[in-house]
Amino acid sequence: MTELTEAEARLRDRARELAREAAAQAAEIDRTEQYPWPMVRRMTEAGFFGLTIPRAYGGPGLSYFDAVLVIEEFAKACAVCGRIAVEANMGAIGAVMAYGTEAQKRLAAALVLAGDKPAICITEPEAGSAATEMTTRAVRHGDTWVIDGVKHWITGGGVSRLHLIFARAFEDGEEKGIGGFLVVRNGEGDPPGLIVHRRIPSMGLKGMPEAELHFRGLEVPDAMVLRPPGGFARGFGRLMEAYNGQRVGAATAALGIAAGAFDHALAFVQRREQFGRPIAEFQGLGWMLADMSIKLEASRALIWQAARSAGPGDGQLGFPDRLLAARAKVLAADGAIEVTNAALQLWGAAGYSRENPMERAVRDARMFAIAGGTAQVLRTQVAEQLLGRKLPQTRDGFLKLAARKLA
Ligand code: FAD
Repeated sequence: MTELTEAEARLRDRARELAREAAAQAAEIDRTEQYPWPMVRRMTEAGFFGLTIPRAYGGPGLSYFDAVLVIEEFAKACAVCGRIAVEANMGAIGAVMAYGTEAQKRLAAALVLAGDKPAICITEPEAGSAATEMTTRAVRHGDTWVIDGVKHWITGGGVSRLHLIFARAFEDGEEKGIGGFLVVRNGEGDPPGLIVHRRIPSMGLKGMPEAELHFRGLEVPDAMVLRPPGGFARGFGRLMEAYNGQRVGAATAALGIAAGAFDHALAFVQRREQFGRPIAEFQGLGWMLADMSIKLEASRALIWQAARSAGPGDGQLGFPDRLLAARAKVLAADGAIEVTNAALQLWGAAGYSRENPMERAVRDARMFAIAGGTAQVLRTQVAEQLLGRKLPQTRDGFLKLAARKLA
């Protein structure tokens, strides 16, 4: 595994230090299901929001690799704080910094550096894995776009200020492709037409609201359209390239949760005695620990490889490679489910109790194989790249490909 530079080790240690405060609050955050604003303020003051924002826009201009070092430390201590660290450094903010106008970059940087965790709005009730089947529409009327539609499972809905909304763009009555539209909740109420319809109760990461958002005649000035190179026709593909950053971040949050559970398990088996000896002495349990550590180290190696593929930071930051990001997320997400379950098992009944952190880790780890591209869909992405060909998922997809070749 790559050694850390002094600066990287210092950054990780600073995150580890503040994460101790997060650890002390993790159970309460889970119990109350409240977004942890006090911890968000502490993380913002310590400079852990907007790590990847270039210096020219007020950030420290660090790399995705630096960000994953920070995310792992927070996720180990408090899964919700780790998740916040993902979206405060990757995802929507990465997309705006790569494709935004000067004004958009300044706006997004100012919000994130002040403690906002932006929301990305892609998924719809009838368009999950098949995201390009989204029906949310943005129709141009002069210099204003009007958005109508419904998104659900929007992380941070109701607490996030900056929203990156994916919608089908219509100009002059014609569909142009899928575009990204930036909308800001100003803190004094939602912009007319942006309705936080309901919070969706979830299994884990309970301090992070997941929301259903309705857009009803939501007006967005043309200046707030995020236009990647290639325009709307290539919009979805380009915006999803930015999403590779978020995937590496999500993989890291999963890794952190699993690594935290592993640490608890390692300590427990050495203090818990049965049959007159520490349970760590039973070979079956030692092999479980060995397998857990192998999964964690393998996940970390793929995550670090993917994060480093985005480049060194300030001004030279790209996005993580699609194949590497997909591989890392599949391994870390599946691995986190296995490792947290094994950790709970090692704790016996105490692991099953809500008085201890193991059952929380199991619940918190479960979502990463679903959100941000399911483990199945990402495996298909990996296969596509190995085979060097598109693998359409609709029934007539291969026919359409063949017709295009003949045309
Ligand atoms: P479906 O697409 O209905 O899939 C159901 C099952 O079928 C899955 O097992 C899936 O793997 C499988 N499947 C579907 N198609 C295929 C295929 N072609 N091949 C093989 N298997 C297939 N979305 C956002 O836009 N923004 C967010 O901030 C956000 N945050 C989320 C947070 C959480 C906690 C969760 C759980 C979800 C979040 N999502 C978010 C939504 C997430 O991206 C979707 O849930 C995901 O894309 C899958 O869509 P779906 O749930 O509709 O499942």
